[in-house]
Amino acid sequence: MTNKYIYFVANWKMYGDLKSLKSLKKVIRFNNINKLKKYRIIYCPPFTLLNSFVKNFKKTKISIGAQNCHYEEAYGPYTGSISSKMIKNIGCKYVIIGHSENRYEGDTDIIINKKIKSSLKNKINIIFCFGETLKERKKKLTKKIIKKQFSMALKKIKKKQNIIFAYEPVWAIGTGLIPKLNELKSNIYYIKKLLKNSYKIKSPKVLYGGSVNSKNIFDLKKINQLDGFLIGGSSQNANKFIDIIKKTFI
Ligand code: PEP
Repeated sequence: MTNKYIYFVANWKMYGDLKSLKSLKKVIRFNNINKLKKYRIIYCPPFTLLNSFVKNFKKTKISIGAQNCHYEEAYGPYTGSISSKMIKNIGCKYVIIGHSENRYEGDTDIIINKKIKSSLKNKINIIFCFGETLKERKKKLTKKIIKKQFSMALKKIKKKQNIIFAYEPVWAIGTGLIPKLNELKSNIYYIKKLLKNSYKIKSPKVLYGGSVNSKNIFDLKKINQLDGFLIGGSSQNANKFIDIIKKTFI
């Protein structure tokens, strides 16, 4: 692992209610005991729980992020939407942008670019998701797709050091499948090189996401260019999530 910290981003998707808050005590306890370890947790619960998460984790180093936001910077007539300014206002530090589940629902590269710009303006850090579909992988287009996603999403963006890059092959999300290690290694190497050479980011933070669990973490952690993991399904259970963090450091 190449950066100062290893990131564990918990994406709860559309799961969780007030009862789920109980499970956070375990994570806080774990985090207090393991203070010296070089990792950072970022919890991204649904909008309805953001405020409660911020309050629960107030005295810890655990950060909170939203799972998406509107591209408009502040306020406006957008029923059902939430802006990065609103997210910032309640104490969140991050927002996930470009998740394939949101791309599927209509987020284009142009919208993603606008969302990144407005969030950075509001001093919210970005967890930017990108990756190829199964069809694109089969056609050996992975690197071409990544390059294209970067060129559109990162257009005219200045504070790129405030972006965490999460490589999430679409076919690996929620399927139990992960890329072959050599394939993943080569993709991460390519991504880091691209970010350093073409986007002039000194030490880009690159995570892997897609069916990470407490078994495959033993293989995934061998890729030492990785700066952490974006975890969906396995992050909704505190024990499983803690287990993944523990096993990363064994
Ligand atoms: C995700 O939601 O970004 C994700 C990686 O999900 P899962 O871990 O369930 O594949």
